[in-house]
Amino acid sequence: GDLWEFDPAPESAEPFIDPRYGLFIGGKFVAPKSKKWFDSIAPRNGAKLSEIALANAADVDAAYAAAAKAFPAWSKLPGKERGKYLFRIARLLQDRAREFAVAETLDGGKPIKESRDFDLPMAAAHFFYHAGWADKLEFVAPGRALKPLGVIGQVIPWNFPLLMLAWKIAPALATGNTVVIKPAETTSITALKFATILQQAGLPPGVVNIVTGAGETGAAVVNHPAAAKIAFTGSTEVGKIIQRALAGTGKRLTLELGGKAANIVFEDAPLDQAVEGIINGIFFNQGHVCCAGSRLLVQESVADLVIGKLKRRMQVLRVGDPLDKNTDIGAINSAEQLAKIKRLAASGVKDGAELHQPACKLPNKGFYFPPSLFTNVTQSHRIAREEIFGPVLSILTFRTPEEAIEKANNTPYGLSAGVWTDKGSRILKMAVELKAGVVWANTYNKFDPSSPFGGYKQSGFGREGGKHGLLDYASIEELRG
Ligand code: NAD
Repeated sequence: GDLWEFDPAPESAEPFIDPRYGLFIGGKFVAPKSKKWFDSIAPRNGAKLSEIALANAADVDAAYAAAAKAFPAWSKLPGKERGKYLFRIARLLQDRAREFAVAETLDGGKPIKESRDFDLPMAAAHFFYHAGWADKLEFVAPGRALKPLGVIGQVIPWNFPLLMLAWKIAPALATGNTVVIKPAETTSITALKFATILQQAGLPPGVVNIVTGAGETGAAVVNHPAAAKIAFTGSTEVGKIIQRALAGTGKRLTLELGGKAANIVFEDAPLDQAVEGIINGIFFNQGHVCCAGSRLLVQESVADLVIGKLKRRMQVLRVGDPLDKNTDIGAINSAEQLAKIKRLAASGVKDGAELHQPACKLPNKGFYFPPSLFTNVTQSHRIAREEIFGPVLSILTFRTPEEAIEKANNTPYGLSAGVWTDKGSRILKMAVELKAGVVWANTYNKFDPSSPFGGYKQSGFGREGGKHGLLDYASIEELRG
C-alpha cells in the first residue's frame, strides 16, 4: 500500500521481523535520504536479524518538519480525543503482545518471560495511565494552564527498548506535544514495529516520528533547532555531552542516566526474601538495568550466611537462549557490551576481589556471560564504582546503619537503592538519608506508571512517570482574568 515508499525484501529470517525497516516520518515508512542501512544483530546467536535505515541530518530534519507540521492540530485537539488515541495504542500493544515480546527478545536478547511478563504489560500500562491524564490535565497543576512545549526530541537506550519508548512518548503525547524519537542502534526493531501500531491507531501523521541510527543520528536529534525539549535516557557520559551541547539554547532538558545502586541488607531482614530481591536486583535483564542493585551492602554479622544463600541460588539460575521460556538470564545485548562486562570483571580479579561464578554451560554462539558475584570488594575497586551494566554483583559489608548510608551514598550516581530490614523506623530513616531517586524497601525493581522515576547527582534530573513526569512535558502558566 502507500504506507511503504520502498519494497521490503521478500522473506524474513525470523518470525515477526521484517528484513528491512525504513524511517517512520509523517506517518509513513520512508527510505533514508542517506541511502545507508545498517545491520541489526540478534544477540542470542550473533546472526543478522534485519537491516535498519541510517538517518542522517537531512532525515532528522524531515522528521522535525513533520512533527512541527503536526503540532498545531495535535496540541489543540481536546484532551479527551488525544486520550482516545493513547487508549487505542495501549490496547493494540496488548493485542499484539506476543508478537512484540518475541521481537523484543530476538532483537535485544532479554528472556522471553521478561519481555512477555514485564516489558509488554508495562509499556501498555504506561499508555493506559497517560491516556487517563490526557483529559484531566487541570488536576496536574490546579488553577493554572498546562501548555505543551512543542516538538520534543527523544533519545533512548537499548536495555528496555519498547518500555523506554513508552516512557517517552506517552507523557509527551498526553500533554499535546509531538515527537521525534531515536531508539538505540542495537534495538530499533520494536520501535519500528510500534510505528505500525500508530498507523493502526490512526494517529495523525507526524505526531510521532521515528529515526534510527547511532550516536551521530542522536546528536542530530538533540541539536536540531526545532526541538523545544530534549529527553534523553542513556549513559552519564553521553548525558554530559548533551548537557554541554544544549547550554545556552533555551531548550528544556531531562536526563535519565546511569546508576550504581546499593542494595542494603540488615541483619534483621527476612533473609530468604532479601536473597530473592538481590538476585532479581542484579540478574533481571542480564543486569542491563540503570537501577540494578549492583552493589550489595550486607551487614557483617549475616554476610557469610547471605553470600552462601546467594551462591546456592545462583547455581539454579538458567542461562541461555532467551527464547526458551525457562531461561532466567538471556543474552548480553551486543558483542561490545559483552566485551565491556568482561573488561570490568577482569579488573575486579586484578584488583584482588574474589570472583564466584556457578558452573554453567553457555551457548557457543551469541553473546553470553554467566551470573557472577565478587566478594572481598573494597570501595576503591572499579567494580564497586563503575556501572558494569551486566550480571555482576559486587559485595561489600558494613557494621552500623551510619556506615551503610555513607557507603551507599559514596558514588557519583543516585538513581535507586534497596533496603532490607524488619524495622519500619529504619526504612523511613534510610529513605531520607539515601541520596537516590527511588528507594525500595523489602522489594526491588518494582515499577508503576504512577510512580515518578529519576535520579540524583550524575544519574540525571527530571522525572518519568506520575504527575512529575507529565510536568516535565508542559509549561505551566498562571490563569489570568
Ligand atoms: P548510550 O548513552 O551509549 O546511548 C543511549 C542513546 O544515546 C542511544 O540511542 C545512542 O545511539 C545515543 N547516543 C550516543 N551518543 C550520542 C550523542 N553524542 N548524542 C546524542 N545521542 C547519542 O547508553 P546505552 O549504552 O544505550 O544505555 C546504557 C545506559 O543507559 C546506562 O548507563 C544506563 O544506566 C542508562 N539508562 C538509564 C535509565 C534511567 O532511567 N536512568 C534507563 C535505562 C538506561
